[in-house]
Amino acid sequence: MVEATTKRDIRKLKLEEIKDFFAGRGEKPFRAQQVYEWLWHKSAKDFDQMTNLSFGLREMLKENFTLNHINVDRMQRSADGTIKNAVTLFDGMVVESVLIPTEKRITACVSSQVGCSLACKFCATALLKRQRNLTPDEIYDQVVAIREQAQLYFGRPLTNIVFMGMGEPLLNYANVISAIEKITSQKGLNMASRRITVSTVGIAKMIMKMADDNVKFNIAVSLHAALDQTRSSIMPINDTNSLAELGDALAYWYQKTKKKVTYEYVVWKGINDNLEHAEALLRFCKIIPSKVNLIEYNPIDAGMFQQAGDDALNMYMDLLERHGITTRVRKSRGKDIDAACGQLANKT
Ligand code: SAH
Repeated sequence: MVEATTKRDIRKLKLEEIKDFFAGRGEKPFRAQQVYEWLWHKSAKDFDQMTNLSFGLREMLKENFTLNHINVDRMQRSADGTIKNAVTLFDGMVVESVLIPTEKRITACVSSQVGCSLACKFCATALLKRQRNLTPDEIYDQVVAIREQAQLYFGRPLTNIVFMGMGEPLLNYANVISAIEKITSQKGLNMASRRITVSTVGIAKMIMKMADDNVKFNIAVSLHAALDQTRSSIMPINDTNSLAELGDALAYWYQKTKKKVTYEYVVWKGINDNLEHAEALLRFCKIIPSKVNLIEYNPIDAGMFQQAGDDALNMYMDLLERHGITTRVRKSRGKDIDAACGQLANKT
């Protein structure tokens, strides 16, 4: 039987609230600073790790609070160095996060939801349906785990974070923002906002909200088609969130933030591999300064979607580059362990 508990989750408390708690017990405010530092900057997993607190103080904290932390239960390494973590959350649910090493960077790819509600036809995570949002600390802890692995396995610091794991970050906006605040704070991981990219299916009203909030991180939009009919047929979100609305929201974003956008785009055989689609993408790219990542397709089914050949990719590249749009072909990483884009589905 699980014991009923009235203990509060200490990681839900702001520094001020921890200070108030200590003040109420006649403890010095700097104790709260120390605890806060253990909780975030030093990522303590239990109260006993807080060695600059007296035994008595640690016991007192244990009596009043719980300290939740994710667990990296299984780790798989790809032949290309990519690491995939199966992460058990506070309630036992599982998400995945990925460490992607390149010559210059080590990137953490983190999840924001358990499953996903968006039902993009080409994505394995869609098959899981959305179960729940991740809390800010569950997001933060994924970054901490990958940061430790970067040092342990590569002897290098974590350089970048992308919200390209499971889920739609803009449908868990408040928690994603709260996690990013801690990740970028000096009291947290002190990482630069410009090294963080939030990838979205392109929810117009949330892009406008981000612009109003004057966020400092980058955005990427999973576009995949710049013609409504095609986009709607593969991404149901497009039915209620048309390309025109998305374009307007991006114009607003640029006007407010002066930050360009990256479009993620897969070219599939028979779906978007002709000149008409490439020209539509070019037109869309002209709305605001942008660049394009042509992502390699990672098969998730028996063949409804197939990666287009090099001719189609070159056709896209030539057209976009000729018009000054920086375009890169992104080879997938970690495919052998189902860690690549769109393959996260808690398979192992
Ligand atoms: N929901 C957000 C975050 C997920 S990011 C978003 O849509 O952007 C995952 C990225 O991988 C997205 O760009 C998505 O479109 C892409 N993707 C999904 N399934 C894929 C697959 N099978 N092969 C390659 N890329 C895929």
